[in-house]
Amino acid sequence: MATGNINVTAENIFPIIKKFLYSDHEIFLRELISNATDATLKLKHLSTLGEVKGDIGNPMIEIKVDKEKKEIRIIDQGIGMTSEEVEKYINQVAFSGAEEFVEKYKDADAGIIGHFGLGFYSAFMVADKVEIYTKSHKEDAKAVRWECDGSPKYTLEEDDKKDRGTEIVLHIDDESSEFLEESKIKELLSKYNKFMPIPIKFGTKTETLPLPDDAKEDDKPETITVDNIINNPNPAWTKQPSELKDEDYKSFYRELYPMQFEEPLFHIHLNVDYPFNLTGILYFPKISKNIDPQKDKIQLYQNQVFVTDNVEGIVPDFLQMLRGVIDSPDIPLNVSRSYLQADGAVKKISSYITRKVADKLASLFKNDRKAFEEKWEDIKIIIEYGMLSEEKFFEKSEKFALYPTVDGNYFIWDELIEKIKDNQTDKDGKTIVLYASDKKMQHSFIQDAKDKNYEVLLLDSPIVSHLIQKLETSKENISFVRVDGDHIDNLIKKDENKISKLSDEEQEKLKTILESSIPKETFTVQLEAMDSKANPFIITQPEFMRRMKEMQASGGGGMMGMSNFPDMYNLVVNTNNELVSEILNTKTDKKRERLIKQTFDLAKLSQNLLQGEELTAFIKRSYEMVK
Ligand code: ADP
Repeated sequence: MATGNINVTAENIFPIIKKFLYSDHEIFLRELISNATDATLKLKHLSTLGEVKGDIGNPMIEIKVDKEKKEIRIIDQGIGMTSEEVEKYINQVAFSGAEEFVEKYKDADAGIIGHFGLGFYSAFMVADKVEIYTKSHKEDAKAVRWECDGSPKYTLEEDDKKDRGTEIVLHIDDESSEFLEESKIKELLSKYNKFMPIPIKFGTKTETLPLPDDAKEDDKPETITVDNIINNPNPAWTKQPSELKDEDYKSFYRELYPMQFEEPLFHIHLNVDYPFNLTGILYFPKISKNIDPQKDKIQLYQNQVFVTDNVEGIVPDFLQMLRGVIDSPDIPLNVSRSYLQADGAVKKISSYITRKVADKLASLFKNDRKAFEEKWEDIKIIIEYGMLSEEKFFEKSEKFALYPTVDGNYFIWDELIEKIKDNQTDKDGKTIVLYASDKKMQHSFIQDAKDKNYEVLLLDSPIVSHLIQKLETSKENISFVRVDGDHIDNLIKKDENKISKLSDEEQEKLKTILESSIPKETFTVQLEAMDSKANPFIITQPEFMRRMKEMQASGGGGMMGMSNFPDMYNLVVNTNNELVSEILNTKTDKKRERLIKQTFDLAKLSQNLLQGEELTAFIKRSYEMVK
């Protein structure tokens, strides 16, 4: 038997480890299972090279918990270690790894994604004594037992372990007794190890065999006890896209998110090995109003080991609402977020993901436009957000971003412009894109536009004012206006000169009359010579004002304080409407006042602006008028 001192610079490193990783003690299991996996993969590799003789069978990893003895065992059938290797790898390599780790963590900022790199010594976060029983795959190698109680002293001696591989025994300390609960270990295994490449056994389970074909009616099915394997060693993302059918992607989605009952809309298989290594599958979920972005997020793996479900900085912001898995050994994990965002490889990964998503959307659109149009409502938020935030994505989106009309037709940008160019270009050569945000509320305005054969888009997502701004600045000679921004003739001004029935003096007089009874803090009176059939009063809200307020409300826009600005409207008065002439020519002030009030209230009503006391007074007045 040999005893020795682990070469320490700090007198006792283990308390430091415990303190540093206080909140993350649970990673010990992931680290030890990772080591067991590596040892098994190495064995398999040596076997294919012929360096390990004989059949190695189908090696697995086993986890055992003994609550009475306060022990957790991690057992593998991998390459094992010789006595010299334990000296080297455990006493020196593993230890220096731990030391380096502590060094690094002393000054690390809070934004660390994964606590990788502590390795074997993370065992001391939960154990006050650790034993290793190991037997190397090398011929004639003698088994050894190593023991350490967390002080720099260790023991190393021969052992009679018969089978190849390593067994780690953790003597769980009193503060960590939660890890002796079977349910806790199950939870950890399913969080970190669900897709690791070597089968992991945790206990047994019973399985019911199917009844044979010639079974009699009262035959009971036979049950057998089998190993309970907690992981799927060959998850879908590790396979080639050509090996997988649509159904396989769907069932992997269910495997990944067992509590998610809605099917994904479509998937994107990621698979590159140059200039970086990355595999994965992303899913577009249905985005509903009550989606919880904190739940069922994209999961990041490294070589099938779960690291985190915080992929900020790696996956572009606008794709954070997607679901699925990415697996890459090339993402640095124990660095701060700001460092991560500046990292060249990570930047490349992020733009690769953006490109793949754009390509997939373009091909879905091209291959089955109808189906794509049907999905548009569910995916538009993500796409519009992407168009706003990623220039590259904006460019690519030309091929698939849809502009739906109030009649349920869908255009891509070029089609839209082609369609409206002739009819909707104003006298200054600007092509005017008309849009509505609410079909019901803006019904009469939409109708006026349709009467002129104009197309009206239906743009109702919360960030649409930002998107419009972006489109106006990147396209030439284009302007967006909401249909209720003004009377239709003013929205798309053509060359025709409308003649007013009223003389200049009459108009002057009318304006004075109206301004004395219409509240001018909110309404600006604007006389227009319109079609005599158009309504006498029309309330509109200037496009600029409304849009700035909307942009403020949804964040950004740069117009400080705009959202607190009171609502301002135009009252457009049609000087060619008969009722307006009547207002002007009425002899008694009382009747005139009533006419103005009633007409004004009707205009407000059609914009949903008549409420409360005003509405009650209006109804009362109307009854009196029909008497
Ligand atoms: P890392 O795995 O990052 O190298 P560790 O501290 O986890 O660092 O382990 C140090 C070394 O000890 C490993 O590189 C490996 O050579 C050896 N080792 C650890 N666990 C096992 C195991 N279960 N079987 C064989 N060798 C192991």
